Amino acid sequence: MLKCDYARLGEQIAELDRAGAKVLHWDVMDGHFVPNLSYGAMVIAGLRKQTDLFFDAHLMVSDPEKYLDDYVKAGCDAITFHIEAVPEPRSLLKRIRSAGLFAGLAVNPKTPIDGVLRVLDDVDLVLIMSVEPGFGGQSFMPEVLPKLEHLKKAAHPRTLLSIDGGIGPATIQAPSQAGARLFVAGSSVFDTSDFAHAMDSLAALAASA
Ligand code: ZN
Repeated sequence: MLKCDYARLGEQIAELDRAGAKVLHWDVMDGHFVPNLSYGAMVIAGLRKQTDLFFDAHLMVSDPEKYLDDYVKAGCDAITFHIEAVPEPRSLLKRIRSAGLFAGLAVNPKTPIDGVLRVLDDVDLVLIMSVEPGFGGQSFMPEVLPKLEHLKKAAHPRTLLSIDGGIGPATIQAPSQAGARLFVAGSSVFDTSDFAHAMDSLAALAASA
């Protein structure tokens, strides 16, 4: 949702819903873990009333433990935080799961996945960043693909492998081949006039990879 038209947020969600979106991915930025600010739990809670779509909150924040309850209360279905933001991810992953949500762990491009591999039993979703977090509209980094290939072998088949950053028609097939099943697309949907066509085309490309 980072690349949406903020003046028409409610209408855009209705359009995405009609266009067949499966998941709304909320990029929460705190101006500290990443240099930008975006939106927080209050905005997400307000929009929760408008749709039943799956809400995936991606917390690019320095202290996810402190704010976790706000995002649970906001009605998120998945909460993904960064492994770089916590000394040890397991306790927070367990808290998210015990709240009945999908527990997600995100990994920056330069961070190895060793720490993720150690806690895979407690993870429902692994989010591989294919750009440096903090800004929309960046170019996809193919050097992160081996992480997906490794996770595809190491993770339980139920673990959802996701990719975030620079995903569009030219870049979606490589991560799909490498094992990603949830693709975060911003500009490649919002910069078009037909959300259904944009999402259907991306899904078809991913499926045929
Ligand atoms: Zn994201």
